[in-house]
Amino acid sequence: MVSVMKQTQPLARAELAPALRSVTLLGATGSIGASTVDLLRQEPGRYRVEAVTAHRNAAALARLARELGARFAAIAEPQAYEELKAALSGSGIEIAAGADAVVEAALRPAEWVMAAITGAASLKPTLAAAERGATVALANKECLVCAGSLFMRRAAAAGAKILPVDSEHNAIFQALGAGRREDVRRIVLTASGGPFRTLTRDAMRKVTVEQALKHPTWSMGPKVTVDSATLMNKGLELIEAHHLFALEPAAIDVIVHPQSVIHGLVEFRDGSVVAQLGSPDMRTPISHCLAWPVRMGTPVPRLDLVRVASLTFEEPDPVRFPALTLARRALAAGGGAPTVLNAANEVAVREFIGRRLGFAGIPALVEATLDAAHKSGVTANPQSVDEALAIDQDSRRLAERLLPEIAAIPS
Ligand code: MG
Repeated sequence: MVSVMKQTQPLARAELAPALRSVTLLGATGSIGASTVDLLRQEPGRYRVEAVTAHRNAAALARLARELGARFAAIAEPQAYEELKAALSGSGIEIAAGADAVVEAALRPAEWVMAAITGAASLKPTLAAAERGATVALANKECLVCAGSLFMRRAAAAGAKILPVDSEHNAIFQALGAGRREDVRRIVLTASGGPFRTLTRDAMRKVTVEQALKHPTWSMGPKVTVDSATLMNKGLELIEAHHLFALEPAAIDVIVHPQSVIHGLVEFRDGSVVAQLGSPDMRTPISHCLAWPVRMGTPVPRLDLVRVASLTFEEPDPVRFPALTLARRALAAGGGAPTVLNAANEVAVREFIGRRLGFAGIPALVEATLDAAHKSGVTANPQSVDEALAIDQDSRRLAERLLPEIAAIPS
């Protein structure tokens, strides 16, 4: 008995002090990147940074690479190479530029990779990290929306662990830990309802870009903030959840919860509903992925339920927020339809922010593009990243062709 005790004690101590984790940040200079860096600063002795990448901000990337002691820094924009080189001269940090350099960063031997590149540019590097079996903290949506089956299949084959960063999916991931997968009856994603939750249909036709960019509970980039105002964000999250958790669309519900305190719920067959709650701060889900499977301290404001006082819930209104119905339609159609939905929405949001399309024009353009794509047969399930990218490009062109007609509809 005594000898057994002696053997188990050092093991228990080793578990209490987790080993150094090597990490790579793809998209280090964006909002998710900044929050991740903030968390790395909390426990500097626990993480070693292998690589950092950015789209075109060489000065910010160089600053981060130096601060974090990264071994490799890659900038996607080839023209930013000289600036990055000058900013990191004498640092001993290896540098490279171009789309291939970002993939190279993903391939370097870091156990854990934050995939926070936005847009279709995220597909190749994120897949590269997954295919070498890394633990991937997934913050971009394109991998799941545009190539979900392909991405999850290849990640599983490589033994990669996919950890969802998005607050709702992270909440579901945490709540799923309370039971067996075969005992899950359904999951529920919560939506804040955005800034126009209580507006009438008429009032919604006249909303401005400034109003759409004011999110009531979360502070995020402009694209996702507009997506929250249309509820397209929740539509895309529904598609992501389908792939991440291998659930039928009918087992994924959405409810509006304006306080953004409950981020997701899982209902088990015995009637138990397990939820994850927290202050609306992305550093909580990011930290959950960063320290996983253990937990780490964060500077996040603690949730004070007495101060929140009441949590309310509503059914999403399909008339004022058609985006959710469009997303369900795209998911049911399958194949390339979710990619068409995402690409058309990106074009629509860009045009709305540029004041060339009204707010109601966003779902209208998405619907028209889905209809046109359906007729022209853009429904094949992509079998490679290049095929997914081609569907994305075709859908953007289709949306741009339909744009003048949709923009001309009086609001
Ligand atoms: Mg979310």
